[in-house]
Amino acid sequence: MRPDLAPEHVRPLTPDETFRFSCHPGVACFTDCCRQLDLALSPYDVLRLSKHLGLAPSAFLDQYAVVEQTEGCAFPQVFLCMVDDGRASCPFVTASGCSVYADRPGACRTYPLGRGAFTTPNGDRHEMHVLLTEPHCKGFSEGNRQDITAWQKDQDLSFYNAMNDELLAILQHPGLKDGQQPGPRELEIFLSLYSLDTLRQQLLDATLALPFPITESELQELAAQDLALLRLGIRWLDHVLPKR
Ligand code: SF4
Ligand code: SF4
Repeated sequence: MRPDLAPEHVRPLTPDETFRFSCHPGVACFTDCCRQLDLALSPYDVLRLSKHLGLAPSAFLDQYAVVEQTEGCAFPQVFLCMVDDGRASCPFVTASGCSVYADRPGACRTYPLGRGAFTTPNGDRHEMHVLLTEPHCKGFSEGNRQDITAWQKDQDLSFYNAMNDELLAILQHPGLKDGQQPGPRELEIFLSLYSLDTLRQQLLDATLALPFPITESELQELAAQDLALLRLGIRWLDHVLPKR
């Protein structure tokens, strides 16, 4: 979502509402939206993109991302670096479209929707959506009408949203309310979610001291499965963040 989008171009959308939208190479604006972006990446985005490119996540971060501490956010954000080509293009945009399409970030899949989610004190998950009608985007005159569910299915978003929600447990951690900031150790663990190859090596080398025991079979699973490792990092962070 562009932070500079005027309020009249951001409309709340209920689950039973439909909207018309389609994006394809025939639109006059094709790939215009893949430039001048503040594209924040999730740990799962980095995992998918790095696999697509055949890179270790830490190498992907070095090559394609920048870590920034945004005012008002407890944790730093990881942004995809745009290319210095005079148009600030995404490094993955080509004349024929997105070169990492199968593993494009969740934000690219979600547009023209924006999604927000939160958990109530009794543990219920709520989500809300807005329709982002960017003025330059011709996609709203294309294709058939669809609702949020149909769009999310079309964009294969369910797992991206599920992983984002797992991370939200950290980003909206009750121990970080009232302006409390994570300490250096918590920040280090948070950034390790983006650099799973480094985290894995540290675990296998036993240079990390987890605050809870894991069995030998769990260790073997963590050695082989990125998602299990990502979830371990989230669990670890949840464990060390201040309790309320
Ligand atoms: S239709 Fe919208 S989403 Fe598709 S390329 Fe054009 S600006 Fe981007
Ligand atoms: S990752 Fe693909 S869809 Fe997303 S901004 Fe870059 S080129 Fe566009």
